[in-house]
Amino acid sequence: MGLLQDHICLVTGGSRGIGAAIVTKFVQEGATVFFTYRSSSEKADTLVRSLADEAGKAIPFQSDASDFAQSESAIKKVLDEGGRLDVLVNNAGITDDTLMLRMSEEQWDRVIAANLKSVFNLTKHALRPMLKNRKGSIINMSSVVGVFGNAGQANYAASKAGIIGFTKSIAKELGSRNIRCNAVAPGYIETEMTQDLDEKVKDTFLQNIPLKRMGKSEEIADLTAFLASPKSTYITGQVISICGGLNV
Ligand code: NAP
Repeated sequence: MGLLQDHICLVTGGSRGIGAAIVTKFVQEGATVFFTYRSSSEKADTLVRSLADEAGKAIPFQSDASDFAQSESAIKKVLDEGGRLDVLVNNAGITDDTLMLRMSEEQWDRVIAANLKSVFNLTKHALRPMLKNRKGSIINMSSVVGVFGNAGQANYAASKAGIIGFTKSIAKELGSRNIRCNAVAPGYIETEMTQDLDEKVKDTFLQNIPLKRMGKSEEIADLTAFLASPKSTYITGQVISICGGLNV
């Protein structure tokens, strides 16, 4: 039996990169996985087709995680079609990097809305059904940048640090109701988000990674599946770095 057999899950930003790897792993482990995307419907459909022979199933739909009303509708869809919500993975995120001197208010607001407000939006609407269900696991995708900071990413680092404070607070508020909340802090992972990085920046990162390579989305998915599953029922309020030992 799969690790997530019969679990009803929602993954935001599941069409590409880390989110797509999480959807894949969860479906392989027997879950029914609703997942959202912002615009890449073709990629979402391709992902669903690739999972046709797996144990569980994937159900994609368009929903902007930075929008409060759309997030409410997203949770409602999961409840209407899935009956309950066992696992919420707040994975959707963007970057819009520039040095602070050049950063516009729009760049700040957009990244905070997509990365941090989105986590509030989805968690807010997921809590009542999880309370009714008397259990739940919420996994928030932070970043090592939220722990260490990074030049040129003040907006992104602030959003990811905000996720950590949010995660620890939710864990404290809802632990007594059997709702767990943890953050995953990936390091430097091979996805579209990192493919355009300057070679010099990449080299600097690699020098500081004891395992001497970038991480893979599948490695983040394995950790996320563990945190979603009954194998981690005594883990809450934690920030788990998965970064090849990166320490910057
Ligand atoms: P990615 O390849 O750029 O994929 C981002 C995903 O999020 C896409 O599915 C995208 O949908 C979706 N998305 C973006 N904004 C959205 C919104 N407002 N509403 C709904 N969906 C939205 O990114 P990734 O590298 O897989 O990163 C996934 C998460 O891990 C992010 O939170 C990121 O900050 C975090 N992370 C990544 C790394 C890394 O090295 N890659 C490191 C640390 C943390 P569309 O396809 O429709 O645009």
